[in-house]
Amino acid sequence: MPNIIDLGSASGNAYDLVIIGSGFGSSFYLHRLLNSGAHSNILVLEWGKHRPHDWQIEQDRHSDIPAHKTFVSKSSKPWNFTVGLGGGTNCWFAQTPRFHPSDFKLRSKYGVGMDWPFGYDELEPYYAAAEEIMSISGDDRMGKILPRSTPFPQPPHLFTTPDKLMAAAQPDQHFPMPTARARVATERRPGCCASFRCTLCPVDAKFTLNNGLIELYDNDAVKLALDAKVVRLETRGNVVVAAIVETGGKEVRVSGDRFVLGANAIHSPAILHRSDMADELTGAGLHETYGCDVEVFLDGVDNFDGSTITSGLNYGLYDGDHRRTAGAALVYFDNRWTHGLRATPGKWRQTLPLMIVIEEAVEDHNKVTVDSAGEAVVTYAGPSDYARRGQERALAELPRLLDPLPVEEISFRSQRATESHLQGTLRMGKDPRTSVIDEKMVHHRWRNLTVVGTSSFPTCGIANPSLTAAALSLRAASLI
Ligand SMILES: Cc1cc2nc3c(=O)[nH]c(=O)nc-3n(C[C@H](O)[C@H](O)[C@H](O)COP(=O)(O)OP(=O)(O)OC[C@H]3O[C@@H](n4cnc5c(N)ncnc54)[C@H](O)[C@@H]3O)c2cc1C
Ligand code: SF4
Repeated sequence: MPNIIDLGSASGNAYDLVIIGSGFGSSFYLHRLLNSGAHSNILVLEWGKHRPHDWQIEQDRHSDIPAHKTFVSKSSKPWNFTVGLGGGTNCWFAQTPRFHPSDFKLRSKYGVGMDWPFGYDELEPYYAAAEEIMSISGDDRMGKILPRSTPFPQPPHLFTTPDKLMAAAQPDQHFPMPTARARVATERRPGCCASFRCTLCPVDAKFTLNNGLIELYDNDAVKLALDAKVVRLETRGNVVVAAIVETGGKEVRVSGDRFVLGANAIHSPAILHRSDMADELTGAGLHETYGCDVEVFLDGVDNFDGSTITSGLNYGLYDGDHRRTAGAALVYFDNRWTHGLRATPGKWRQTLPLMIVIEEAVEDHNKVTVDSAGEAVVTYAGPSDYARRGQERALAELPRLLDPLPVEEISFRSQRATESHLQGTLRMGKDPRTSVIDEKMVHHRWRNLTVVGTSSFPTCGIANPSLTAAALSLRAASLI
């Protein structure tokens, strides 16, 4: 059972390390720290409650706190996340491709965005470790474009028939989707049975904190405070000395030697703004990938015979010189009937839903600030020209990409409102003039404050971000 404490009645709230949030960034950081035995007196402050899998299934939700009510937005674009123990591990779909090596060098290769402070090779061992912790399923042949030092922990999911045709013709760019949806049962998770409700998986086949890392919070070195919303930090000189926490209707002060901020890409910068610790880069550059849904009618080829919700991933429109002016594209081949079955007698399975996801530019006018009442405020102006051009290019190139398939018709179905990936508001970099945290994820100014999670991303990439957030945390905790 987690070592839950009530901050309101605890005396002597002083800790070696105070971790804010318990999602991907915070929990993978804690995982590496506990394995290294580096700390003995750790407090985790989590705004939400602990809601186990059975509660979530019964209630048909992940949390008691609706995410959209935790911030104010001036645009209609949704920003989705979970407030509760485990954060995004609860609601994610468990798609886990790595970032592409070129994603780390966008400025030096293509003259746009900025380079990450280190390259793919530096992060690779931590990708491997994060994949091991989450028992990721995938095909080692993917190492041709995303080099690997270790095999995938689990075998790949089964392709659909359209995937098989694509991979036979394009073996260097069409791969099974890497995923934390179990291909084979583990000690704690049954195999994924392709029932397609992954945000609340009925059989608990995807990795979550509840089924994969809950023991972190049983550790004697760790105390967990739930219903503990960090409002602001207190500083003295260049040192963070305390967190001010709203809990049980009152404010409690918790002091610490070191702090880790992993409250997501909206609430982490909001905490710094409320603390008077923000410069003009703090909160700037909120972004996520830009996606659309396309449906492809096939002639004589049935779909929907794969073993999980998204079965194939195609890199044919991803990397190259086009990234100087237009976002890269990643094409997801779905094994779910997003647009229903095909209403043509004898052809009801001869349809292929594709999700095309485009790299977004990081634009500082899309940002998180706080209002006079201290509420987080999101300002978002819309997708960049870079992303729009990337989508136009991808749609124009799609017929060529799909050459291996007997295509009857390609239809644009809809622009996707969100990919549910908030990124980039406390970006990482070597230069304090262009970034908030350094290559070890330590704040350039407050040197006992580490920032984890997707807020640290300096550029967008296209891959779903959580595996990268997990790997970054393992690396940051290893470098202490
Ligand atoms: C529906 C959905 C599907 C998704 N599918 C995928 C997918 O397939 N693959 C993928 O890679 N990603 C996916 N994501 C995105 C993924 O959830 C995020 O990228 C990831 O959770 C980000 O990690 P993080 O550590 O930055 O933040 P989170 O995991 O959100 O963790 C933040 C934590 O901080 C807590 N917190 C917030 N504010 C405070 C505060 N003031 N005080 C104390 N605690 C606070 C939160 O409760 C939470 O525990 C999906 C997201 C959604 C919503
Ligand atoms: S496809 Fe079904 S079984 Fe597999 S992770 Fe999603 S909801 Fe769970």
